[in-house]
Amino acid sequence: MDGLAIDRQREACEKIAGNRGWKVDEDSYYVDQSKSATDKTKKRPAYDRMVADFKADRFDAIICWDLDRLTRQPRQLEDWIDAAEDRGLQLVTANGEADLATDGGRMYARIKAAVARGEVDRKSARQSAAQNQRARQGRAPKGVRPLGYATNGDVIPNEAKAVREIFRLFAIQNGPSIAALAAGLSGKTGDHIPKSLPHLPKHTRTLMMERNERRQIEGLDPRPVPDDGPWGSSTVLGILRNPRYAGYSVYTDKKNRINKNKRRTWFSQVLRDDSGQPVMGQWDAIVEGYTWHVVQERLDDQSRVTNRTGSTARKHLGSSLYLCGICDEPVRAHTRGYRCAGHLIRSRSQVDGFVLRIARERLSRLDLLDAVPLADEPRLRDIQLRILEHQGRIKRAQHDYDAEIIEGMDLKRIRARENAAIADLEVERLRLVGGSDLKVILGAEDPLVAFDGADVAIKRRIIDYFFTVSLFPHPRGRKAFDPSTVKVEPKRRSSTGTIGPLTQRAP
Ligand SMILES: [Zn+2]
Repeated sequence: MDGLAIDRQREACEKIAGNRGWKVDEDSYYVDQSKSATDKTKKRPAYDRMVADFKADRFDAIICWDLDRLTRQPRQLEDWIDAAEDRGLQLVTANGEADLATDGGRMYARIKAAVARGEVDRKSARQSAAQNQRARQGRAPKGVRPLGYATNGDVIPNEAKAVREIFRLFAIQNGPSIAALAAGLSGKTGDHIPKSLPHLPKHTRTLMMERNERRQIEGLDPRPVPDDGPWGSSTVLGILRNPRYAGYSVYTDKKNRINKNKRRTWFSQVLRDDSGQPVMGQWDAIVEGYTWHVVQERLDDQSRVTNRTGSTARKHLGSSLYLCGICDEPVRAHTRGYRCAGHLIRSRSQVDGFVLRIARERLSRLDLLDAVPLADEPRLRDIQLRILEHQGRIKRAQHDYDAEIIEGMDLKRIRARENAAIADLEVERLRLVGGSDLKVILGAEDPLVAFDGADVAIKRRIIDYFFTVSLFPHPRGRKAFDPSTVKVEPKRRSSTGTIGPLTQRAP
């Protein structure tokens, strides 16, 4: 309420006091301006002071503008009704309808409080029905905007770029960990931190600044904004899990959200139409559907997630990748070198430096994307949808079992049948996306920057994709590196993924 309304209400109440011959103390005005009487969790300081004053026996009558200014919570109202009956508290409203001294007045007050309560419940039911309808129409959900999207669903380019890069990096086999992605967004540097991520302020901070801009337009004072801090892993995880980035319309019934398995919760957020097909949002997807699904699988697969910490990842570029030129067996890491027992031992820094130079040279060539077979994307999307459909059937069967509509035997049979179908689709998908994690690197805006920023595992994949590297013994006594002792040969590929003859072969 604005100040004028408060003044009007005060005058009306004072008039009643005057009519009844009641004396009003200076400090007996209880004004909670613009505070809801509905929300239990909202503090109403003046109301609390009034309760305390009543307990201290400092007044014996309450005049309020309207009952819903006093309280909209039936339980609080009952306390006042009890007080009216037990201690003779008089309560009148300025409109004269609720006088707790009379039976009729009490009944009126109770009905009014119950109606107010019901209105609140209906409002929240209406809101979730509206949310659900919005989602069914594929409209952007209301509420806090995710990184990359404006509230109306428009793509915010610089944020979308970061989102795309987060997905791209995480979709790569043995790519950076979630913590490394968070560190990259925070502008940190280090061996395992990808360099290709933009440094962004924390999303919560951006949201607070935007809220302050809106407040300024409304003529309100800005709220304090905390200093920028590092991105948290849970925020990055939330981004990787969000189906909206792949264009899926999402809806979560808050009541069903609690105590559910995380994985299920995320998949169940994808809204489906009556035939079980995912509803697509009207906004632009920031990542490809299959990239999103690859990321979900990586997140679900705990062993792969653990692998990302690097414990089992190869530390060196060429271990088990470079071949011994004499016996064609992979070389092993050995102190500061690569070794094939009895045949050779080479300096790691010299060989790696040479191989990396050739790899960078290859990546700087324009025919890069042609070198990687393009997956059949419409078919991939179709496979993803069909996998989701089969997963939906398993889920439905699980629900039916929980609801005792089907027997355990049926559930088992349905599960086996659907899982077999899913497995077939997975095989087809893997065949199609064979080079996809490679493609996400090679498709980067600047592949050289992406390559330099990539960790060892990714560099190994790139080198392995393009080249066969063979090492030969280095002539004894010669200190300078002899390039002819490292053979870097382009791999020959089938017609689907030809790479042309390389001109910059190692001598
Ligand atoms: Zn050998």
